[in-house]
Amino acid sequence: MDVLGPGIHNHEDVLHKIFGLESYRPFQREVIETLLSGKDCLAVLPTGGGKSLCYQIPGLCRPGLTLVISPLISLMADQLSWLEKLGIPSATLNSTINQKEYKSTLSDLRKGVIRLLYAAPETLASPWLRDFLSELPLQFIAVDEAHCISQWGHDFRPEYREIRSLRTKFPSVPCLALTATATPGVQRDIMRTLGMEKGLRYVADFDRPNIHFSVLPRSTASQGGWKNQVYTLCRKHKDQSGIIYCMTRKRTEELAVFLQSKKLQAMVYHAGLADKLRKKNQKLFLEKQGTIVVATIAFGMGINKPDVRFVIHADLPKTLENYYQEVGRAGRDGEPAAGYLLYSYSDVFRLKQIMDLTDSQGMKELYKVVDWADGQTCRRAALLNHFGQKTGDLNCTGCDVCVTDEDQKEPVKKKNGVSRTQEKQSRNKTVNRTIEAQKFLSCVYRTGQRFGTSMVVNVLLGSRSQVVREKGFTSLTTYGIGIDRSRQWWTNLSQALEFEGYVERDEHFSGLRLTDKARIALKNRQEISLPSFVEPE
Ligand code: ADP
Ligand code: ZN
Repeated sequence: MDVLGPGIHNHEDVLHKIFGLESYRPFQREVIETLLSGKDCLAVLPTGGGKSLCYQIPGLCRPGLTLVISPLISLMADQLSWLEKLGIPSATLNSTINQKEYKSTLSDLRKGVIRLLYAAPETLASPWLRDFLSELPLQFIAVDEAHCISQWGHDFRPEYREIRSLRTKFPSVPCLALTATATPGVQRDIMRTLGMEKGLRYVADFDRPNIHFSVLPRSTASQGGWKNQVYTLCRKHKDQSGIIYCMTRKRTEELAVFLQSKKLQAMVYHAGLADKLRKKNQKLFLEKQGTIVVATIAFGMGINKPDVRFVIHADLPKTLENYYQEVGRAGRDGEPAAGYLLYSYSDVFRLKQIMDLTDSQGMKELYKVVDWADGQTCRRAALLNHFGQKTGDLNCTGCDVCVTDEDQKEPVKKKNGVSRTQEKQSRNKTVNRTIEAQKFLSCVYRTGQRFGTSMVVNVLLGSRSQVVREKGFTSLTTYGIGIDRSRQWWTNLSQALEFEGYVERDEHFSGLRLTDKARIALKNRQEISLPSFVEPE
């Protein structure tokens, strides 16, 4: 492995230690492993799905240069400053750099210090540059926005045709073509044009329709406690195999003993177990129907048991990436499966103490899990949105917000006569919320973009609380302009605005601030449509 640092042995080490990320998003691992095995690959992943890591990580796993072809010069600059922060030597070649920079980059390339080179396609049209590159130890070529190569695509760029001759010059260098949008026809065209017909193709649909997601308030001691709650869930899945994730080894052991005392076939699995015992437990789980593994997140890597019917998170996962990966171990066979998350807000404090989440990135990711768990919108859509997948026509096949367990058995009529299915359909629609969104967004703005949802809602509702008065918010034009709606309603709206990227959290995790999207929408008085949410009665 590369000399990037001690203790870096494989691509996962690069993910953790260099990029500081917990786990892969869907398809990243597959793409990375394909490239590292020397094969070409086309990956269609949504915007925000994490395409950059797909070439950055393989590029850092081995010595040599990775060439990234990208048409968007501003994005190149973003990537470069990010890589710089991470200490990864990289450079760009495009029309905006001057002679001096160009020369110094060439000299750095010659010396072999650069690991990632971003180049615009028109720059690569120069035969001289191509000859120059052929002298370098080129290990991967990544083509970003690869749909631009296809004249059938919506964004054909003639300069992309140059990449083809580059490929003929480096036929044995594995090539990764990346795009967020490509019809099957365009996908074929990309692969043909780049001469990578034999490569693998990953087209992301992150949805796992057979998994039913639910978030349950954690039972307090007076309600019987979390262990009993887990037990009840396990009983619902009698004789089925399941995985229960806990935050610490101690809790896995405590829970396993408890479940055993209730005559369930439960066993622990964590990194502290003796090798022999761990292998034995793993074998039992794989072979014996109806076994339950109580595990820390150490469990799961490389385990492929298709008929896991349920996954329970007894504790809050650290990131949504972790969560999706862990819950995704349920129902690999495509048959119905369930994911339960036990949650109470106090978990955040517990997790903060136990885990080393002092860094702001860690807290940011944890708060995304909290927001998801607190959310009132479709769980599936919220998860998919987090991974960048658009969910406009998603027909949720099951989550605690859209469909209850009873729905799976028979459609029930709600008391107001609206069936769950109708309700579900209405929820997948978007609704024009322009006026309310304008009220909310301008209130975020006027309170200084420092406060979380509850303060903004307090002001909208004209709260007389001491803080609101002390801060002088009672004299804002947005004070009290939301009294026609409930607190819950505004909280839902806030979440919908966040999902749609109109507001984001500041680095202290709680304050909301406007994004460019919101500023533009406000300035141009654009219509704001948001996913509909269940309006509290
Ligand atoms: P794309 O090019 O697909 O639009 P990016 O590569 O720019 O997406 O990634 C979008 C964001 O997601 C970036 O901020 C990136 O750091 C983050 N990201 C990518 N992969 C992961 C991961 N495995 N875990 C956490 N964050 C990730
Ligand atoms: Zn749903």
